[in-house]
Amino acid sequence: MIIQLNKNIKPAEKDAIVKKVNGLKYEANEVRTQKGTYLIGIGSSDFDIRQIGNMPGIDDIHIVSDSYKLVSRKWKVRPTIIDLGDGVIVGNGELAIMAGPCSIEGEAQIYETIAHLKASGIRMMRGGVYKPRSSPYAFRGLGIEGLELWYKHARAAGIKIVTEVMQVSQIEPMLEYVDIFQVGARNTQNFNLLDALGKVDKPVMIKRGISGTIDELLYSAEYVFSGGNERLILCERGIRTYEKASRNTMDLNAIPILKEKTHLPVIADPSHGIGIRRHVEAIALASVMAGADGVIYETHSNPYKAFSDGQQTIDFKESEALVKKMRASYELLRSF
Ligand code: PEP
Ligand code: MN
Repeated sequence: MIIQLNKNIKPAEKDAIVKKVNGLKYEANEVRTQKGTYLIGIGSSDFDIRQIGNMPGIDDIHIVSDSYKLVSRKWKVRPTIIDLGDGVIVGNGELAIMAGPCSIEGEAQIYETIAHLKASGIRMMRGGVYKPRSSPYAFRGLGIEGLELWYKHARAAGIKIVTEVMQVSQIEPMLEYVDIFQVGARNTQNFNLLDALGKVDKPVMIKRGISGTIDELLYSAEYVFSGGNERLILCERGIRTYEKASRNTMDLNAIPILKEKTHLPVIADPSHGIGIRRHVEAIALASVMAGADGVIYETHSNPYKAFSDGQQTIDFKESEALVKKMRASYELLRSF
């Protein structure tokens, strides 16, 4: 069960509710987020909601049979909207587009990417300054100096920053520069990182684990929400299967399934999903038509020279064309 507590609840009222919940053989877990305070009842016994629903201090009570609770659509039918400020919003019924290089490489690249995004009406720029690389000898990112440089130009241009945080100790120094913390596929089940991001008042986008199930992704989101941060976005980025013809297998199925299971916005990453530059467009458009709230993809002025993931990175001309096609597809979908 999820009990939404009134913001003016008195301590004695809360104690009485906890006692009642325990009396129903439910464990009561208090969750305090930016938006409210909840009591999450964990248990399985059957009870009559009227036994508890009228107690003073309760705004609303919901029976949620899913094992993840706060991210479930069963109690929050309205979609979660993530407001990044300055009119940049994810999940509000507009297609959210996040584009940029796999890695931030330097000032010139930041500059030319921002110019491209502005020309295409894109307000969110992706890019890694801490890169999880399969090989320790590969480029691993410019770190905090790269982020500061990026921030300087992005702020001036009204562009929001989406970037991966790899470990707990990076959160604090990154905090003032980041608009959306990305949890990478290799870290989806780094529960210490998820706990720490629960304490942060910045949106978090969690990518699906490389071999993670849809439910495991939802549990990862539940970690952050129950830690205190409900500004969450999910990202389908393909999973590892026996198929070798593509880098990953983009699980388009996950998009409508997630949209049904959770109130959180769902973003698709066709770049990592298929891993092949010339097919990114097809998978991006398919993701839009499958009901994604947005798309994140890799673009670079010269993908052949990109420091990482060049093989799946489209150039600015292709990016410009893709944005037009995605927006037209989204409009078409909405017109049905
Ligand atoms: C990335 O976005 O560049 C990235 C490393 O993604 P993922 O964690 O999905 O592999
Ligand atoms: Mn990448």
